[in-house]
Amino acid sequence: MRVRVDELGNKRRVFGLDLDRQWAVQAVAEALDGEVEALAGTLSLRALSGGVMVSGDLRAVVRRACDRCLSAVHHTLGGDLDLYFEAEPLAGDVNVSLTPDELDVGFTERGELDLAAVISEFFVLESSARLRCGDPGVRRLEPGDCSVGTTDEESVPVAASPFGALKDFEA
Ligand SMILES: [Zn+2]
Repeated sequence: MRVRVDELGNKRRVFGLDLDRQWAVQAVAEALDGEVEALAGTLSLRALSGGVMVSGDLRAVVRRACDRCLSAVHHTLGGDLDLYFEAEPLAGDVNVSLTPDELDVGFTERGELDLAAVISEFFVLESSARLRCGDPGVRRLEPGDCSVGTTDEESVPVAASPFGALKDFEA
């Protein structure tokens, strides 16, 4: 879903989002690498200083996998949204430099704002880099504890190491 910035004018455009909006569901699924089971919210767009101010709220429930135990979890996340998308820098403009604080700011492309990119960026910002059972909003769907499997590298016996023989030699 793309919106032309110059067509916004002084009007505010509001988009309601739910599971029927396939492009939105797909954006969330790709951003969080999971299956979207619920999606609700609104995006309100307003032209501002050549770019677009996007405000509103978005909430989703996504079926994902815990990064530690790989168990299936329901991740409920979202909230209020306020993101600014600047007009894209002109090609060849060497004066453009971004400080780390500004890296969260997106850009419009060829005078258009891609709402799928807005949604994707919002949910990436809302989600922690590593997802674990018991984190806020994360509910494990299978019984059992969240722990790494016994095939973890640390459980490999020392004797299996080629350095085991060297250790015997030194003794
Ligand atoms: Zn887990």
